Amino acid sequence: MGKEIRMDGQQKQDQNITINAADLKDVVCSECKGKIFRQASMFKRLSALVSPTGKEQIVPIPVFRCDDCGNINEEFLPKSEKK
Ligand SMILES: [Zn+2]
Repeated sequence: MGKEIRMDGQQKQDQNITINAADLKDVVCSECKGKIFRQASMFKRLSALVSPTGKEQIVPIPVFRCDDCGNINEEFLPKSEKK
């Protein structure tokens, strides 16, 4: 009378995947082709009307900007900033 546990939706994971960094494509700055990115933050003002605390809040959103020219690639932008 054992219950059958269905494993549907669970993907088998291959334990032997090795990733060779040389095979990976670099993400480069869309402006200057730089490869070094730095984490920075954008801040959003959360109005008191929608804030869970009922008070205005500042919410930090992490983004990555090019260390050379400061450009933020479109792919790094938070969804809310995409056009
Ligand atoms: Zn750049």
